[in-house]
Amino acid sequence: MEKANTTIIGAGISGLTTAYLLKKRGIEVRVIEKSDTYGGSIRTERINGHLVEHGPNSTLETTPLINELLNMLGILDRKIFASKSSNKRYILRNGRIMPLPMGPGAFLSTKLFSGKAKLRLLKEPFIKSKSNPQETIAEFTRRRLGNEFLDYAINPFVAGVFAGDPENLNVKTAFPKLYDLEQNYGSLIGGMFKSRKERKKRNEESKQSAKTISFINGMQELTDSLYENLKDNIEFNCNVSSIANNGVSRLVTYSVNGETKSIETDNLVISIPAYAAAPLIKGIDEDLSRTLADIYYPPVNVIITAFLKKDVNFNLDGFGFLIPGKEKRKFLGSLWSSIIFEHRTDDAHHLLTNFIGGSRSPEMTKMDDAESLNTVHGELDSIIGLNGKDVFHRIMRWEKAIPQYGKNHSAVTDKIETFMNSNKGLFFCSNFYKGISVCDCIKNAFATSDKITEINK
Ligand SMILES: Cc1cc2nc3c(=O)[nH]c(=O)nc-3n(C[C@H](O)[C@H](O)[C@H](O)COP(=O)(O)OP(=O)(O)OC[C@H]3O[C@@H](n4cnc5c(N)ncnc54)[C@H](O)[C@@H]3O)c2cc1C
Repeated sequence: MEKANTTIIGAGISGLTTAYLLKKRGIEVRVIEKSDTYGGSIRTERINGHLVEHGPNSTLETTPLINELLNMLGILDRKIFASKSSNKRYILRNGRIMPLPMGPGAFLSTKLFSGKAKLRLLKEPFIKSKSNPQETIAEFTRRRLGNEFLDYAINPFVAGVFAGDPENLNVKTAFPKLYDLEQNYGSLIGGMFKSRKERKKRNEESKQSAKTISFINGMQELTDSLYENLKDNIEFNCNVSSIANNGVSRLVTYSVNGETKSIETDNLVISIPAYAAAPLIKGIDEDLSRTLADIYYPPVNVIITAFLKKDVNFNLDGFGFLIPGKEKRKFLGSLWSSIIFEHRTDDAHHLLTNFIGGSRSPEMTKMDDAESLNTVHGELDSIIGLNGKDVFHRIMRWEKAIPQYGKNHSAVTDKIETFMNSNKGLFFCSNFYKGISVCDCIKNAFATSDKITEINK
């Protein structure tokens, strides 16, 4: 039987980053991946000159750890920032897209919110009630900011980040910084001003002010670079059948090309989706196994389209637009990828990334390719105006896209922590635990590798 200091199951950004950091610190590491490639949700292709992101288009630079990682990898100079014009974000209301106000002046003059909604927002600092660990994002927003702010700011934002519905997501775990603002300062508006000073001290950025980043050739540059450093440590096409914990070491059994193999490992990091982790930990903790199996991953179709610039009537001058559920449209919104970043397509085209489905309308992802494309074209035409068909498209189908941090997710993370405390040497480092963004996964990988490094001292 093979022996390893640390074995990591899953070669997405969480597993790759953990493996890379440990290897850098001289710790022997093995990565076992089910598919025949690395990167998980992160995958980029360049087709006919257009950059196709299958999964994340960018991430928010919310922690300095991302630069630490890029620096170690030697790819800091490959990082690119979103253009200035992409600061403008549109929301659809009554069939028209309107810029989301980004400052107090714009907020007072915007037509996106009614006078009543604006007055309601001014009451926020005086609301005394506080959240509880089960409160949903919708309950939280209604209580603090009112219905209209929920419908026309938070609802589309949650669709854009989680492909989710604020009525079903837990505020404490999905938006911990928002929850903490209320807990610590009693107000979101007052807390934002006070916490800005504290964040500066910690050298951290808030999600509102953090910069949107990617790489010259897309997000996969990051996982390509990690892989280059881990080539000898990763085994592909591995089907893990069981994991066991005898208290002294962990045992992983898997098959690869019909051959059954086992590794005895001091530390085992689980960096795979919750539904994949659930059967593996059943023998160790049946309750947590059931809990993980219950985490919902809604389907999402990503539809990339390139149009000749002359065929788009609207002056694309922002990040794109998101659609509130109340508008009852057939898709979630559109990112104007070639406005956000350079190097996405050539000068003659606009590249748009459109989203269908999510937990708001999972059934829409069942449309065939022609129907999906027609839907996107019809919606884009009625919102931004088109003079012709796209010159290029690609449809990516994610049957299980993003884990939803449901109403009881706070209890889920408590159970994960209890599990890790009572099973020394077993770790969860995956997007269903402490944040879904690429940046959060990297932050979690640093924390996990720090713990393992400490054990090895
Ligand atoms: C469509 C889409 C758009 C997104 N947009 C953004 C965005 O714009 N910005 C952002 O920051 N984030 C975005 N995200 C979220 C972010 O990309 C993910 O949360 C993050 O990449 C997850 O990384 P991970 O390593 O935790 O998991 P994954 O990427 O899911 O990787 C898990 C790996 O484990 C492997 N695996 C699964 N089961 C097993 C098994 N039994 N044994 C061994 N290996 C197994 C998988 O093949 C995969 O390689 C998006 C996600 C999707 C799907």
